[in-house]
Amino acid sequence: MDFFSMFILFFVFGAVIGSFLNVCVYRIPEKISIVWPPSHCPKCNSKIKWYDNIPILSYIILGAKCRNCKEKISLQYPAVEFLTAALTTLFFFNFGLTTWTFCALFCLYVLIVISFIDLKTYTIPDILSIGLIFFGLAVSFINPAFTGDWLAKFTSSITGASIGFFGSWGLAIFCSALIKKDALGGGDIKLMGAIGALSGCWGMANALMIASIFGLICFGILAALKKTPENGAIPFGPFLSVGLIINLLYPHFNLLLLGV
Ligand SMILES: [Zn+2]
Repeated sequence: MDFFSMFILFFVFGAVIGSFLNVCVYRIPEKISIVWPPSHCPKCNSKIKWYDNIPILSYIILGAKCRNCKEKISLQYPAVEFLTAALTTLFFFNFGLTTWTFCALFCLYVLIVISFIDLKTYTIPDILSIGLIFFGLAVSFINPAFTGDWLAKFTSSITGASIGFFGSWGLAIFCSALIKKDALGGGDIKLMGAIGALSGCWGMANALMIASIFGLICFGILAALKKTPENGAIPFGPFLSVGLIINLLYPHFNLLLLGV
């Protein structure tokens, strides 16, 4: 298959998954089943026809409005679809068609859902963050971030998970006492555990650094635009997710070691 057909195939596959991730972002915090009932307009409840449910394209064709009641459709829908499609394509071209590609893609999809739920609700559902810790441990033996035999790989994964979880827990208690305010959310602590399980201790340090840099840039932009949220809080989950996604894509890249 030539490059162009492969690109289209991966992109369409990713866009379809992205469409499902939108359902997850919308329904998991509301504790509604992610498979039933089928998609419907949140305002007028009309069932969305298959031809109005084509990733990215339907949003453009419908002019960002529900066909039935003309309610505005959130930009989140095509954004998640496009992001998922683009990153899926990147993962496939980066790793080829291997078992690990699908494991890494599964993590990517969970991270996209985590990020958008955190942006909307300031929380990360346990099922996603804790689920990712166990998934990371289970697939550690094929994870290219780790070296050695399966036991060595598993040890790196569980050490990373423990340090990520308990380390940030300790840090959260310390910082909260210092500033007398909740410093790091429980969701972020579990997500740090997942980052450790999937990329080990060095990977975790790398992800944390990337997350802080992205976080500071975003905070700076929001402050310059005078758009910082009223409570001053910005969810950290999306930034940690960016860090882990970069780790998954480039398991041997480390920002901390660049200066050495
Ligand atoms: Zn409607």
